Amino acid sequence: MGIFDRMAAKDHEQVIFCHDQAAGLRAIIAIHNTTLGPAIGGTRMWTFSSEDEALEDVLRLSRGMTYKAAAAGLNLGGGKAVIIGDPKKDKSEVLFRSFGRFVHGLGGRYLTAEDVGTNVHDMELVRMETSHVTGVSRALGGSGDPGPVTALGIYEGMKACVSRVMGRQGLEGLTVAVQGVGQVGYHVCQHLHREGARIIVADLDPDAVQRVEEDFEVQVVSPPEIYAAPCDIFAPCALGGVLNDETIPRLQCAMIAGAANNVLLDEERHAGLLAKRGILYAPDYVINAGGLINVANELDGYNRERAIQQAAGIGEILTRIFDLAEKERVTTLQAANTLAERRIEQIGRIKNYFAGGDAVRRWK
Ligand code: NAD
Repeated sequence: MGIFDRMAAKDHEQVIFCHDQAAGLRAIIAIHNTTLGPAIGGTRMWTFSSEDEALEDVLRLSRGMTYKAAAAGLNLGGGKAVIIGDPKKDKSEVLFRSFGRFVHGLGGRYLTAEDVGTNVHDMELVRMETSHVTGVSRALGGSGDPGPVTALGIYEGMKACVSRVMGRQGLEGLTVAVQGVGQVGYHVCQHLHREGARIIVADLDPDAVQRVEEDFEVQVVSPPEIYAAPCDIFAPCALGGVLNDETIPRLQCAMIAGAANNVLLDEERHAGLLAKRGILYAPDYVINAGGLINVANELDGYNRERAIQQAAGIGEILTRIFDLAEKERVTTLQAANTLAERRIEQIGRIKNYFAGGDAVRRWK
């Protein structure tokens, strides 16, 4: 399939190929949709096995950002960038500054941030060339580590799930199994501990396990055991693709609410499988939007209070999604997609309406 056909397949607006031989830069920026505002999305640096794979990834991820920003109620569109290279070997000041110039050339249509393979330091290099970058350190007026704000969104999302499934407020006395206690998982445990929930954890990294054991009251199980741990909520906070044909039948929970991106191996099929098992699934891109909300807040001058307040609204957004899923008898994932699409369509219509009105007035 040609590149225009691939863009047309998922309705992408623009794809930019960035090349700077002297800097060793080969990057692709994809802008999926800017109806709601400038396209936001991180820069992923990865040793893609082919240019085709890099293009596929950036097209898929940029579209995902459109839905995430729309569902979170942000006035932002979806975009993403990939830099082809080994993050362990190929990083340099000149590479990121060259990339920053390409971002700058887009005049604010695309706003970048850190992602897999890039970090706050890399974004500070990008920032030397453009202001269209978020996720820089607190010292430079940025939002710093998004983990705590993401965790707050997860916690609020858990409460919305519990209210829907059990008709009760709060998590006191409930059991939550947290898979992965890194940047986000640790702070999720902190909320759960404060609220008096029973916490089961698993992590491949013994240091991460030790940290939560020292700070909170937790029961530790081995990574393979976490799926079958009897609990009310399973909170995947590690990697994507962990909910699949093999793991879903083993789950002993009533709700899924966690941070991991792309947690369903096959989105539609596995959302359906969870629904069939009667497990309420909080769609990953909605419940983990606290990180995006945090960096988006940098755009108007970072304000922690405002970011926290917005992330706390994730519970309400999920409640609307659960209502729609019930009303239209669809999975919660389909309902989330529908809400995001409707928002883009409706806001797009207002924009067109007023733009048209203005043009007509001018013409008259
Ligand atoms: P992290 O790397 O700090 O933590 C992940 C933890 O999971 C690590 O401690 C790792 O050892 C553990 N882990 C990996 N595989 C595991 C397995 N099979 N079983 C148990 N533990 C395992 O990452 P993070 O920033 O906490 O992010 C966690 C997830 O949430 C990721 O999928 C990320 O994409 C997503 N996410 C993060 C943010 C954020 O603000 N950091 C925002 C949105 C989404």
